[in-house]
Amino acid sequence: MAKKKKRMSMETFAKGALRRASLMWPEISECRRLARRGPNSYECAACHELFNSKEIAVDHRSPVVDIIEGYQGLTIFAERLFCSVENLDCLCKNCHLSKSQIEVQMRKYARAKRKEEASEHDEDVE
Ligand SMILES: [Zn+2]
Repeated sequence: MAKKKKRMSMETFAKGALRRASLMWPEISECRRLARRGPNSYECAACHELFNSKEIAVDHRSPVVDIIEGYQGLTIFAERLFCSVENLDCLCKNCHLSKSQIEVQMRKYARAKRKEEASEHDEDVE
């Protein structure tokens, strides 16, 4: 079977572009500035240890893609991505990874739940 190259959807491309653009979002710089404790030293909002600029990431407290609702289109994606500094935390790589892993598990669960509800609905129709 010939390999079929999957075309990237416009939405996938746009989401990537928005995420890259968000690195220049002033609120993200503000989050880094607030976490700064000295030259190239940033405090992790979770473990409170100090890290250099390469070891930290700016995290959305309330994730860009809602855990329960899932992806809801580009407008909501952009609104949640370009949020205010109150929804942002400077986290070290380890704390960021732990939070992301929990979110992945919660998403899996929510997706399964949505599927389950959708199939229950199908059964009602039949
Ligand atoms: Zn940390």
